[in-house]
Amino acid sequence: MSTKDNIHWANIDSFVGNKSHDTLLNHRLCPICGSFQYRTLLVFDDFQFSTDSITEPRRAKIIEVQCQNCDGVYLNPCYSKIGFSCLFSEAGQSYGSTEGRPQEQIDWLASRGLLDVSKVFMDAGCYEGRFLSMLPKSVRRIGVDIDTLAIERGRKRFSHEGVELIHGAFESFQCPIAPDVISMTHVLEHLADPFSVLCHLRSVSHDDTHLVIEVPVLDDGKTNDINGFLSVGHMTHFSIRSVGILLKRAGWKILEQQQMQEYNGYRLLAKPDKATVNNIEYESADRAGACDYISHWYAQLAKVAILMGSWEKAERTVIWGGGWHTEFLYQVTPLFTTNQKTEYIIVDSDPMKHGKSWRGLTINSPDVLSKIDWENTQLVISSYQHQEEIAQAALKKGIPNSVIRRLYDKIRVH
Ligand SMILES: [Zn+2]
Repeated sequence: MSTKDNIHWANIDSFVGNKSHDTLLNHRLCPICGSFQYRTLLVFDDFQFSTDSITEPRRAKIIEVQCQNCDGVYLNPCYSKIGFSCLFSEAGQSYGSTEGRPQEQIDWLASRGLLDVSKVFMDAGCYEGRFLSMLPKSVRRIGVDIDTLAIERGRKRFSHEGVELIHGAFESFQCPIAPDVISMTHVLEHLADPFSVLCHLRSVSHDDTHLVIEVPVLDDGKTNDINGFLSVGHMTHFSIRSVGILLKRAGWKILEQQQMQEYNGYRLLAKPDKATVNNIEYESADRAGACDYISHWYAQLAKVAILMGSWEKAERTVIWGGGWHTEFLYQVTPLFTTNQKTEYIIVDSDPMKHGKSWRGLTINSPDVLSKIDWENTQLVISSYQHQEEIAQAALKKGIPNSVIRRLYDKIRVH
């Protein structure tokens, strides 16, 4: 470790004291079919979710499993409430993808008559209610979310526009009126018990309520991102088949379904099913899909390992990006194990992380880059979506192109 340039360089795993705790995780039944029998697909022994801490548990053993009854893929054990608050404290907002693509969704809803005058529209997983605020005012707009602070902020911002926000758990919230439309986009994959949630949504619905669900699916999950489809941020890794089974089991009849073209989102439109569903056929179909996905992911890891082997040796490495992608670098690539003597720092634009460390490596503002002698130092870009943006910022700072290491030859929008 050296401080000649006033930068605290360190070896990997030089922080002692990170820990896990039994209360972070809960075992559960299959979130799709309720079975307790499963097989293990993938394990990360000691996944670190955020910066180093000797007081708070920040690590957990991640086990992705596949149900032996319905072939559903899910995290088991999954995060408990305590687990969420400890492990995701630096992850920011976990739901709310509606924030990014509102206009397309509004057009889609409107073209199906779901935003007609005097409809009652509910957004389940509304966060602050921004999406609701963009819907026509002739629609009664109700939002529900489990995040107390987001609901409070949302009430301040949007209640004068007529948006009604309810704080509550998705499986038990109280609704003042049966909604005509319920929208739940990119939320189900984050929940421990999506079956109970869908049953509750049905119980607050009337016979003609339309439910719009969107989840990412395994069928479209192949990506070259090392932080792949089986994201540690998701509790259930749906497929087209398993989300269909889940809806049917919870008493919903699918009217329409489509894969979104621009990103991994599978959208379904459903209505309460008047018939009681007693028997669901769990014909095996997703075993091959999960194996096919995992073999694709390992092939991407092999590419990255070969690429890293081709890099010129450097005494020091700067990692740009202090998020989960860097933990994946640690978990699934040879970056930190090729040479144990290598010294590292991390730079990240998030000021909340500055002065903290991750696995012993200090997290700095990108401003320190101008102090570095690049003679024996390389810059590894640790981000999928922002790889090119970071590369351009590095070049702008005068860092030689020859020491900038990109992991990906192409980027697919998630
Ligand atoms: Zn199952």
